[in-house]
Amino acid sequence: MPLYTIHQIAKWTGATAQLKLPDEEISDLITDSRKIRNSDRAMFIALEGHNHDGHTFIKGLIEKGVRNFLLRYVPEGLEKTEANFLLVPDVLASLQSMATAIRTASEAQIIAVTGSNGKTIIKEWLFHLLNSQARTYRSPKSYNSQLGVPLSVWPLSPMAQLGIFEAGISEPGEMERLEKILKPDIGIFSNIGSAHDANFASRKEKVLEKSKLFKDCKKVIYCSDHTELCEGIDQLPDASKWLSWSESDTNADLYIKGIHKSPDGSRIEGRYQGLDLEIEIPFSDAASCENAIHCWLCCLELKVDNTVLKQAFLELPSIAMRLEMKSSKWGSIFISDVYNSDPESLTIAFDFLHQQAPGRKKVLIISDLLQSGLENEVLYTQVAKMIASHGIDTIHAIGKDISAQPELFEGLNITFYPGTDDFVDKLDSLDLTDTAILLKGARHYRFEKIAAKLEVKSHETTLNIHLNNMVENLNEFRKRIGKEVKVMAMVKAFSYGSGSFEIASLLEYHKVDYLAVAYTDEGVELRKAGIQLPIMVLNPEPASFADVVEYQLEPEIYGLDMLYAFDQALGDMGADANYPIHIKLETGMHRLGFEESDLDELIEHLKGSSNIRVVSAFSHLAASDEMSKEDFTRGQIETYRSMSDRLAEELDYPFLRHILNSDGILHYPDAQFDMVRLGIGLYGITSNLEARRKLKVVSELKATVSQVKYLKPGDKVGYGLSFTADRDMKIATITIGYADGFRRSLSNGRGRVWIAGKLHRVIGRVCMDMCMVDVSDSDVRQGDEVEIFGEHISVYELATDLDTIPYEVMTGISQRVKRKYIFE
Ligand SMILES: *Cc1c(COP(=O)(O)O)cnc(C)c1O
Repeated sequence: MPLYTIHQIAKWTGATAQLKLPDEEISDLITDSRKIRNSDRAMFIALEGHNHDGHTFIKGLIEKGVRNFLLRYVPEGLEKTEANFLLVPDVLASLQSMATAIRTASEAQIIAVTGSNGKTIIKEWLFHLLNSQARTYRSPKSYNSQLGVPLSVWPLSPMAQLGIFEAGISEPGEMERLEKILKPDIGIFSNIGSAHDANFASRKEKVLEKSKLFKDCKKVIYCSDHTELCEGIDQLPDASKWLSWSESDTNADLYIKGIHKSPDGSRIEGRYQGLDLEIEIPFSDAASCENAIHCWLCCLELKVDNTVLKQAFLELPSIAMRLEMKSSKWGSIFISDVYNSDPESLTIAFDFLHQQAPGRKKVLIISDLLQSGLENEVLYTQVAKMIASHGIDTIHAIGKDISAQPELFEGLNITFYPGTDDFVDKLDSLDLTDTAILLKGARHYRFEKIAAKLEVKSHETTLNIHLNNMVENLNEFRKRIGKEVKVMAMVKAFSYGSGSFEIASLLEYHKVDYLAVAYTDEGVELRKAGIQLPIMVLNPEPASFADVVEYQLEPEIYGLDMLYAFDQALGDMGADANYPIHIKLETGMHRLGFEESDLDELIEHLKGSSNIRVVSAFSHLAASDEMSKEDFTRGQIETYRSMSDRLAEELDYPFLRHILNSDGILHYPDAQFDMVRLGIGLYGITSNLEARRKLKVVSELKATVSQVKYLKPGDKVGYGLSFTADRDMKIATITIGYADGFRRSLSNGRGRVWIAGKLHRVIGRVCMDMCMVDVSDSDVRQGDEVEIFGEHISVYELATDLDTIPYEVMTGISQRVKRKYIFE
């Protein structure tokens, strides 16, 4: 771990230093106040962004023991605190200057990877291939942004001989800053795709912009078969440093003569400097081959011997840079990270655990960590410290190395096992009820065996929910609303079919202000899972009022009868005064709400009752997604304005006003009032095409091919023999049917699914648990993954095939479909 004095950091950042504790040394930089676990030797970087100001967290951090701050101003009242304040005009720029200084002081040879896809995998594979040749540092996870790059340079030790970094940009102007920090010696340009296209005039402009990373590189590796990439590169002055590989151009620096795929992997043959060479990798998809060849040429240019490389390529790890959360037996959840086993990735997994399971007891199942390059004692001291600071309740440690160091884990509730099977044998006798379990094992330890025992067995069909993308969508909406405007996240109907506490914890962690559910039960479930945000209940039935109060839920009150009944119930229960309620106003949808003519009576009752207090008064738009009905919507907004004005005049206390749902936020930005109610937009779904391009896909519904069959002309398919083959055909049976939400109306060509890179039509009738698709013209095999919707088929398209809207598609996915929460 790095360790620098506060004076050193003051110098690097060019700060005006107010040092009350001049002897402090820093090893950790913190940018997210929620992730602080250990305040010793930590420095908080007070970043400012849209709707976010790091300075507001400083007071709380001081209370938690943090003593060092890089900031733009000292918040009021803290001037006299015993702390070190490094004052700078632009915090991010200073952090970048510090990274530049650390990079400059290092003699390591720096490899930098950019491009639209594959950056992280290339970086991780290069690390795997080169770590045995030189002391190699690589940036953690996919830290590649204006903030991520400087943070990833911070741990670069002066002892490192090689450093591997990623750089990514989303708009023009950013790469020059990353180039100044990294000053790479060798570059890799992976490929160019559609990401962030909207922010660049053309693909070529994007290529030229990204190439700025390689300004002073001696060598840059790229694939000359990518025409768009070449068109950009051809315009650059110093052609000689660009080293290409190609499957078609025999003059390429590395000419790929052939790629031979088998079920176990691929053998790649190439010619390099007149020599015929080959490697084998344990993957056969096109993207893996491309990533591997980039690495191959890079290693050859670094003069690594091909026989050494050959062995290392055979053992390329699978880099699923992601954590997955699923439900487990005994009401527990488990998060598995069986791909990465280095200490950095442990921190990421702990943070995920805290984000998703704030209220549960935490259990860690961990194996020996391999290939960290550290001495065992140093490594496990570090691991023990991390476990202690993250408040893990129980630890099961598997493997000879970790078991050999029991004294390092003193004071922790830890049990050691020699091997995975020894643990599996004991598993049934452990009490794991209602816990959150983190599985963290090196590949060799085969933690899949543990996962298989923990997992609730259901069938292969899975709804994958990409939590990071949801957070990005939340932030995209935040950009469009005023700084002071609150966000209520709608998590009704099992969060639009995607989960309950899993989504609510994420949103709570990311600081939405309010949650709303449809029925009381849904709110009770969230409270039981430890959610503390205020929760509005849209449809609280009188029979559930007792639960409403017991679980501190806030009812929507939409009529006089209901108002009297709730007030009465509060009195009967002896609840505290001023119980929070939300008043729903009828403005044109004609569903629920007080009419204009009810207002007098409503106001009279509210004034006379001390049991209740209005926290908000709101209404709902009937056609916010249809601009052809703009006049109607504007009318609703005006009616709402006047009705809520009336309430505001009569009540002698303030309350929140809100009317906009997701599409309302996009189409009527002037009607935000005090709060907005964000629902389906969090899933990247909207009628607004401009916004749709900026939002990310959150959910993917996946099935599997159970069997492949061959038909002769005249053969029939499925119930009712509704399909007859008129030629030789190949069909696949897939694991989804109408009981999963893949409705029967998709039979006979209406429905389409994506397998092995292509769309395929449903043939015959959809059955309860399965259906058949025509795969005559494709290389589809048993076990292949099937996308029902996701990256290639949007929820809109499926909704169109079904003659419905995305809301119904999403909420119609049955509960037996396994939900998997992915964090990348
Ligand atoms: C469902 C709902 C929303 C959210 O609507 P989206 O279109 O999903 O954003 C907002 N307000 C109320 C009252 C709702 O019932």
